[in-house]
Amino acid sequence: MQKDDKNNQNKKHTHPITRIIQDIVSTLADLGFEVALGQEIEDEYHNFDALNVPKDHPARDMQDTFWLKPLSARKLLRTQTSDVQIRFMEKNKPPFRIVSPGKVFRNEATDATHEVQFHQVEGLMVGKDVSLAQLKGVLETVLKKLFGDDVQIRLRPGYFPFVEPGVEIDMICSKCHGTGCPACGHNGWIEVLGAGMVNPKVLNGVGIDSREWQGFAFGMGVERLAMLKYGIDDVRLLYSGDLRFGEQF
Ligand SMILES: [Zn+2]
Repeated sequence: MQKDDKNNQNKKHTHPITRIIQDIVSTLADLGFEVALGQEIEDEYHNFDALNVPKDHPARDMQDTFWLKPLSARKLLRTQTSDVQIRFMEKNKPPFRIVSPGKVFRNEATDATHEVQFHQVEGLMVGKDVSLAQLKGVLETVLKKLFGDDVQIRLRPGYFPFVEPGVEIDMICSKCHGTGCPACGHNGWIEVLGAGMVNPKVLNGVGIDSREWQGFAFGMGVERLAMLKYGIDDVRLLYSGDLRFGEQF
């Protein structure tokens, strides 16, 4: 009896969210990315304006963003970790590579795939000859670390205000290897994250000359990656606090 108790205490269980963040950050650190952390309470400029989000964009709506009182101060709970990239670029001269893990907040109803609080890891690389091909190489390395060496990815055009051009990254379905099955909605591919080349307006806005420098950026939803990796179909399980859930990992 005593021996069993001792064994249980010695067995360490890392929460799937923590483990995914650790895997992404350590893989990027090996590729020369340094960790940059930000603040969860942010101002409207760093969360939206500096990221080229239009003034009338629905994301700024009370229904999507947690605004803090008094409303006149225009403070909010950040809706993504891209604000860290803006704050870093305001203070540092390129070239640089940074990775920013953190909590973000959305004012939405919770269901199997939505939580009001979740985790993102964003990456940013700015240099003289930064390209989409490099972005693809970096993301392949990260996704192989998470999902195994046979990961294949593809880039599709996508729209995010912060990047131009923007791309959606899909990963080949690990269950059917591209032929289509219920797990991938019969697409053969699963959307995993958004990325793109940093919009020149964003670079110029923080005082980096876009004629001289280019950058790529990507943002990963950690809960989504955890659900894919561990076959979890309800995001709320990740926060249930049920120890039996945590002990499976
Ligand atoms: Zn499939």
